[in-house]
Amino acid sequence: PVELQIRHVSKTYANGVQALKDVSLTIPAGMYGLLGANGAGKSTLMRILATLQDPDAGSIMLGDIDVVAQKDKTRRTLGYLPQEFGVYPKASAEDLLEHFALLKGVASRTERRALVEVLLRQVNLWDVRKQRLGGYSGGMRQRFGVAVALLGNPKLMIVDEPTAGLDPAERVRFLNLLSELGENSVVLLSTHIVEDVSELCTRMAIIDRGEILLEAEPLRAVSEL
Ligand code: ADP
Ligand code: ADP
Repeated sequence: PVELQIRHVSKTYANGVQALKDVSLTIPAGMYGLLGANGAGKSTLMRILATLQDPDAGSIMLGDIDVVAQKDKTRRTLGYLPQEFGVYPKASAEDLLEHFALLKGVASRTERRALVEVLLRQVNLWDVRKQRLGGYSGGMRQRFGVAVALLGNPKLMIVDEPTAGLDPAERVRFLNLLSELGENSVVLLSTHIVEDVSELCTRMAIIDRGEILLEAEPLRAVSEL
């Protein structure tokens, strides 16, 4: 299984805010939680891992891929689920996912349709595949985002504050879905909700004002706080 190695990563924004200060983490395959308050630096780290932003210093390796230097290669093996998954409200889940599959290079229509069916069943949206996405609830949109992220069979899945705005039933459904994702890939879950981490993750880190405070198994971490 793949491992994500973050070494001495720092990031200061143009306004002088030091969002990440010498962050180092080794993240094994499985569910890993990054817990921190608003403004702690979670999204900055997620965007850097997703190749949407460059660090000022440090290195990041996903297996043998250099995430900072090899952006195209990283993107081909990455699933990124941002805080708010923006969708085209008039499209149906089925049509949009098929379109994304085409963009990913699945040229055969038959293959695309088969793939779309597998993914929509996996995220439990098959029955509502023909509805307009604009009518989906927040939880349904998030699950659609997971299906899109899974299209590329990612080795690294980045999930940024996924349960914000979900009602309790949707939240449980969404977290269960995440926990079913492959054991061979790294699933990195950023959140400010302790329960998201304690219920699901095998390891976690706490980030505060750009610094890693502690890295541990969730139960130990909570007792150390
Ligand atoms: P979190 O996701 O944990 O809430 P962020 O990474 O969004 O944390 O933010 C970390 C710090 O960096 C905060 O102080 C935030 O205001 C600041 N910040 C985030 N993005 C930018 C930006 N594009 N420009 C300037 N400052 C930013
Ligand atoms: P988060 O929920 O991750 O803390 P915010 O809602 O604070 O993010 O910020 C939303 C967007 O605004 C992000 O793209 C972030 O990079 C940007 N941003 C956050 N803080 C600042 C800042 N102080 N200056 C400029 N942009 C910022």
